[in-house]
Amino acid sequence: MSNMLERLYPLSKLFHTETRLAPLTDLMMREAGQLLKAENGVLVLFDADGKFTNIFTWKLSSINTDDENWHLWLYSSVISLTYHTQRVVIIPNISVDPRWGNHVFQTNLPQNGSALALPLIYKNDVIGVMVFLHPQIGHFENDLTPLPEELGVLCAGHLHTALLLRWAGGEDVRDKLEQAQLQRDLSAMIYHDLRIPLQTLRASTTKLAELLANHDDFNILNLLQINIRSVRQLRRLVDNLLDMERLENGDTFIKQDWANLHDIMTHAIDLVQPLALEANQHFQFILADNLPPLMVDADMILRVIVNLIENALKYTPTGGNITIGARIKDGMAWVNVQDTGNGIPKDMQQSIFDKFSRAHQHSTTHKSIGLGLTFCRLAVQAHGGDIWVESEIGKGSNFIFTLPLPFSTTSTDNIKPSSSSDELASTA
Ligand code: ADP
Repeated sequence: MSNMLERLYPLSKLFHTETRLAPLTDLMMREAGQLLKAENGVLVLFDADGKFTNIFTWKLSSINTDDENWHLWLYSSVISLTYHTQRVVIIPNISVDPRWGNHVFQTNLPQNGSALALPLIYKNDVIGVMVFLHPQIGHFENDLTPLPEELGVLCAGHLHTALLLRWAGGEDVRDKLEQAQLQRDLSAMIYHDLRIPLQTLRASTTKLAELLANHDDFNILNLLQINIRSVRQLRRLVDNLLDMERLENGDTFIKQDWANLHDIMTHAIDLVQPLALEANQHFQFILADNLPPLMVDADMILRVIVNLIENALKYTPTGGNITIGARIKDGMAWVNVQDTGNGIPKDMQQSIFDKFSRAHQHSTTHKSIGLGLTFCRLAVQAHGGDIWVESEIGKGSNFIFTLPLPFSTTSTDNIKPSSSSDELASTA
């Protein structure tokens, strides 16, 4: 490992000296190629939709990117295989291996020897693929891993900066980027430090509740309950902010384990029930009886559900109906929180999931920041799910999110309402 670092560190310093895209890719191909003892190679960059945007060659004749064969080769060769598997692919003999893409007539590329393709991964996304070639069969078969993986990550980081600089029209935004990162790190530190006094507050309030369990003054017990709830709410808020920072940074830190969606839902409902009573709102639960266990960060998903219910309570006038449902549909678990509140304008239904976006004027009754739904989106997406809202002004909103099932379950709408008073106008 230290040997690998010794080899990669000088490269990182060298790449730092060049921020223009084309010279940087030249430098990368040359240095990485030498490290892998390759003879020549190709580097392909992709956009966020997986379409190739640039091709750079190293010691190969240049490539006509308008050539149809090239398109065909890129999407049916080792390039697309590496892009999709996000793994290093070694082809010992390209002349007989279909992974090389020999079925496409392509004069520019060698048809004999061996190849090694590595993904350029930046924060969990493949932004490009590098392919190195050598005329000798089996040249890359020596145990090189994890060197190519590490090379890919190193190159991707520098390429990402160069792409950003190009996007910024040549202006050097590195200072701004570093500042933004510093700000994010600082916020994460503050959120993290806030948890310690909160922990103490929670422990002392719980102890106080134990000591006063037999107290006969209803007001004191009531105040204590409000305290306990507020501390829990604050803790959830801080956890959401902390998770949001991490998720935005692309950290894959989710503590996934088997959890029962039914249990998570009922726990969430228990937590918000007192708020519903206070706000004089009517709750209805429609939980399917075939909910399978899911592989999730249960605490994070609990906070997503609580967030959606708290919003429903916040944006629904007194006496409204809030319906909370969970079921299996199209091979996914579907959870929805539907209210009979103000509704959200069509043109805001997507942007409310962005940071600091609010669909309603700030009022004294609604303390609104515009971060809750951003947390929900990041948390659900980190689990491989999706979240959206269906809403009509004056009629209400239905927030829906999906989570992948750990194994395929037959689609069924086997739903049993636990309260039959209202008919659910569910759009989920
Ligand atoms: P906050 O509630 O702190 O503003 P959110 O990110 O949770 O932050 O929500 C963003 C915006 O989306 C809110 O300001 C509100 O305008 C709108 N919104 C969220 N949930 C609902 C809902 N159930 N009904 C109507 N509007 C909602």
